[in-house]
Amino acid sequence: MNRLFFILIIGLAACKSKPPQQSELPQPIPDDSIAYVAPRNVVFMIGDGMSLAQITALNYSNGNRTVLEEFPYTALQKPFSATSRITDSAAAATAFACGVRTQNGVVGMDTSGKPVTNLFELAQAAGIRTGLVVTSSITHATPAAFYAHQPSRDLNEAIASDLLRANVDCIVGGGMAYFGLRQDGKNLLDSLRQRGYALADTTQPLTQFFKNARAERLIYFTALYEPPSRLEDRTYLSQATHEALWHLKRIAGDKGFILVVEGSQIDWAGHDNDLQRLTLEMEDFEQAIGAALDFAHTDGQTLVIVTGDHETGGLALLPGSEMGNVNAGFATTGHTAQLVPVFAKGPGQELFSGVFDNTAIFHKIRRLLNLGAPPQQATLKKQPAN
Ligand SMILES: [Zn+2]
Repeated sequence: MNRLFFILIIGLAACKSKPPQQSELPQPIPDDSIAYVAPRNVVFMIGDGMSLAQITALNYSNGNRTVLEEFPYTALQKPFSATSRITDSAAAATAFACGVRTQNGVVGMDTSGKPVTNLFELAQAAGIRTGLVVTSSITHATPAAFYAHQPSRDLNEAIASDLLRANVDCIVGGGMAYFGLRQDGKNLLDSLRQRGYALADTTQPLTQFFKNARAERLIYFTALYEPPSRLEDRTYLSQATHEALWHLKRIAGDKGFILVVEGSQIDWAGHDNDLQRLTLEMEDFEQAIGAALDFAHTDGQTLVIVTGDHETGGLALLPGSEMGNVNAGFATTGHTAQLVPVFAKGPGQELFSGVFDNTAIFHKIRRLLNLGAPPQQATLKKQPAN
């Protein structure tokens, strides 16, 4: 008995003396051990700055229910970048889009500055259509990671130039000035038209543009720079999600599509520690999720995935919070390192369970759509003449 106790003490001491090695930590369940049905289409929805507290605040503003309760599969992802426990949107979106960790601020490149092939490029090589709907400028860090390869998220004009050779089929968002009112004097709006895009801005209603457009490739600009907040007069996210989904379905046929939708301004309200604006942005994003679920229900072959890129604001729901009246506290005006939930509904949903790195989402979507293995480096096509 004493001897056993002694061995136990020695064992515990040995355990305590060295931290667990990576191989001793529990390993994630490999996707190839999970049975699933492959989806034809994937809608990947990112609430920028959205984690559990933001979702809980939405819950409290909405009679203790959100559309997220319709998702049968949930998981947690680790939103770290290559150089920081706290990621920014550029590194997080590069993890989703390219499957690699990179430095904060970098878009579509690895830590050595090499462009990395993204999901949209892999999809297009397989004949799968692609689209982006956001409430920021379309050159903002999150959407940019799905088509651009730039060392800094601040290079809006260079990111806009990358869109010219990216062949994204359907885009809704702000940032028209980075195409038409550039410091380098180039007019990328003309270049986009030459490449077969139909373009419009808010002088034409969004629904009318989608209804009447004959082109396969569509871009609808919602602002010269950043679109207004929901608290101001922005209302397009759910409608644009609906229109983009049906447009992509029309042009994709049985080849399928990937649509990325971002509720971009949840993050901005978090940075400003503004609960009212944050809640409205969450309600706006929730309506877009509802639009995607409606489409997926009708279509029957669409997987909807919802997550955030990181938490913003260190939001806490403090004592005194009641239904319809949240008492909020913010720990920071920046981002935090906390894990972020993932929700999945539709064919392939089974892969979204457990705890995994943010980069795993890229590999799961790639697997589900049977896209080729990513080459180490994107082949950068020659800059087209403008
Ligand atoms: Zn942010």
